[in-house]
Amino acid sequence: MLLVCRAVDEDAVRERIHARVPTPHGTTMCRIGDQLLVHVPGDRLAADVLHESGLVQRTVADPSDAPLTDREAVPPGSVVSLGGSATVGGADFALIAGPCAVESHEQMSASVAMARAGGAVALRGGAYKPRSSPYSFQGLGDEGLRIMAKIRAESGLPVVTEVVDAETVDLVAEHADVLQIGTRNAQNFTLLRAVGRAGRPVLLKRGFGCTVSEWLQAAEYVLAAGNPDVVLCERGIRSFEPATRFTLDLSAVAVVKHRSHLPVIVDPSHGTGHRHLVKPLALAAAAVGADGLLVDIHPDPPSALCDGDQALDRDLWFDLADALRGVLTGLGRGLTPGEPEPAGRAR
Ligand code: PEP
Ligand code: MN
Repeated sequence: MLLVCRAVDEDAVRERIHARVPTPHGTTMCRIGDQLLVHVPGDRLAADVLHESGLVQRTVADPSDAPLTDREAVPPGSVVSLGGSATVGGADFALIAGPCAVESHEQMSASVAMARAGGAVALRGGAYKPRSSPYSFQGLGDEGLRIMAKIRAESGLPVVTEVVDAETVDLVAEHADVLQIGTRNAQNFTLLRAVGRAGRPVLLKRGFGCTVSEWLQAAEYVLAAGNPDVVLCERGIRSFEPATRFTLDLSAVAVVKHRSHLPVIVDPSHGTGHRHLVKPLALAAAAVGADGLLVDIHPDPPSALCDGDQALDRDLWFDLADALRGVLTGLGRGLTPGEPEPAGRAR
């Protein structure tokens, strides 16, 4: 059973339950806005204790197997802040753009200018790159993180970067605004718990072999660790079809919007692997109800050290942003406004 309570101190709630139920099995909590979600799996007594306390505002009697993510817990849908004024969820559509990998300060500087000019609210870029082949570029590592932090300070735009193991969560959290969990780590439960404690929003990619239910349960790990700020990202699943790098499952976006209150964005770059397919799938993502996009862009795609074939150059990126504005207007939506550029910087 899921109990939607007034947001009081979680420890006080725990103490109340423990006083009467010494070993409440698997009770989890997550504060979202001015509410505290408490999941008490089958523990009638723990639920009774909370009801008696007068804290319970509403009960979700039969939540899904990822109860804290259940749409009924937050019917209007949750809005996640990425840092600064950038948000994902709600009425507007958020663009996050940048290169697959951080390659140099110069490349990231050009990328952030491009990203912002196209309307992005946050910059992406991987410092640690999980690659299928050990012979592929593995990312700049710590140096990449430092570059991201510098670009963030110079541009004022929040930055999103991948964290690949639990040991480096704190380090990545010191340098970036948003912690990305990649598809290959989507069921690394130790890592999910660690980012749940990191105090930063999490961009959780769908595992390419995960069902929607497994994806939401992965998000549940983060929420159950106390972090409500999860943005889901559909990035394609493995299918029998080799024409695209993965099969972008846009139906999953509609399913997730129905089942969960968490915002969901789409990565049409990793989903398709080809730059000419990014625009059509991006527009479709907007039409299907996604809350935003994560898009690979690069100031010079042919020179990219990672995933250059799917990166949009300046012209294609601006063309996409324009087309998106048109589709969103038709849907009665708009782009989430980005952080204003720091004073004194030329456009
Ligand atoms: C990425 O976004 O850079 C990335 C590696 O994505 P994924 O985990 O979806 O492959
Ligand atoms: Mn990539």
